[in-house]
Amino acid sequence: MTNHDEGNARATRPHARKSLGQHFLNDTRILGRIASAVGAGTGDTVIEIGPGRGALTDQLLRRGATVIAIELDTLLAARLRQRYAGESRLMIVESDVLKVQLGEMVSGEYFLAGNIPYYITTPILFHALRRPRPARAVYLVQREVGERIAAAPATSEYGALSVNVQALARAELLFNVPSRAFSPPPKVESAVIRVTPREDPVVDASEEKQFREFVIAAFGLRRKQMRRVLRTLWNLGPEAAEAILASCSIDPERRPETLSPAEFAAVLRSRLTES
Ligand code: SAM
Repeated sequence: MTNHDEGNARATRPHARKSLGQHFLNDTRILGRIASAVGAGTGDTVIEIGPGRGALTDQLLRRGATVIAIELDTLLAARLRQRYAGESRLMIVESDVLKVQLGEMVSGEYFLAGNIPYYITTPILFHALRRPRPARAVYLVQREVGERIAAAPATSEYGALSVNVQALARAELLFNVPSRAFSPPPKVESAVIRVTPREDPVVDASEEKQFREFVIAAFGLRRKQMRRVLRTLWNLGPEAAEAILASCSIDPERRPETLSPAEFAAVLRSRLTES
């Protein structure tokens, strides 16, 4: 695209659709840092969620990657097709990302990237943690959500979201992005996170659903001691609750907000083998 074409495209741009979380990132330096954090180059495939006007797509293509870009907005998808006509390393899929089986779009290893729509951050995160999982995923998210995803036990941000993501992946908060870097600027601050699926997740496929529900229920009682949490959630007597915790070497007075993902998994497994 020439500067002239870009100028024309800008002049006829439709308004951002807030209902689709459309805040377009304009800062090339930040876009470059996001693409570098993905770390995909020639021969690699990146699935990009919500390419919008193609700002991050450009950076991923520039690094030599093949990009499969999933965009829900019909008008934006059509414009991307027009803009990148003849670009053999880009495939544009017009769809709701939550309706696409991501790992089945690629044979072999793939990466994920996206300045994702904030209204569906959590569903996207867990959708992208289904098997076959990406080698690495880099997302631009609402800062407060990014802090919760990457939080360590016994901090105020640590909760069910932290445990459920970290049970399957390593989560890192990479850097903050101010609202002024977007057009239109969102009302909240943003941050870039990297989620790297673990080779040895603390739960296996058959346990995931039960684990997620257990963790969410336990954090519903986050101020209670674990012995009380287990008694309440599983309708146990005091001895049974304490026996489960003892078998995992967990002090019954600890509260859910101090347990690591591996400890939650151990408690659930102990319960399942005893019942
Ligand atoms: N990547 C672009 C950028 O950095 O400027 C746009 C980011 S904007 C925050 C989010 C994008 O996700 C928008 O283009 C929006 O239309 C798209 N989107 C919203 N909901 C979606 C969904 N369910 N599936 C796929 N794309 C979606």
